[in-house]
Amino acid sequence: MIPDRCGFCKGKLVDGKHEFVVKVGETMLAIKDVDAFVCQECAEAYYTPQTSRRMDKVMQKFYRSSLRVHPLAAGEISLSEIEAENC
Ligand SMILES: [Zn+2]
Repeated sequence: MIPDRCGFCKGKLVDGKHEFVVKVGETMLAIKDVDAFVCQECAEAYYTPQTSRRMDKVMQKFYRSSLRVHPLAAGEISLSEIEAENC
């Protein structure tokens, strides 16, 4: 079940939409407009089991390359690379 308080900061959860970003294989997939309960303080999102199942299906379809998605530019860097550049 969905808690009424955030598990991280105890902020209040409100009904909203969230963008879920996941790495599937070597590709990033962003699922927009996901129904979620979003923490007002830290923006952590919580999903109902039904929503999680819907997202699982999307990810499986995407993995099998049977889902046509909008291409999205993405950048990736490792934490150690950032730290090396800053010093
Ligand atoms: Zn929170």
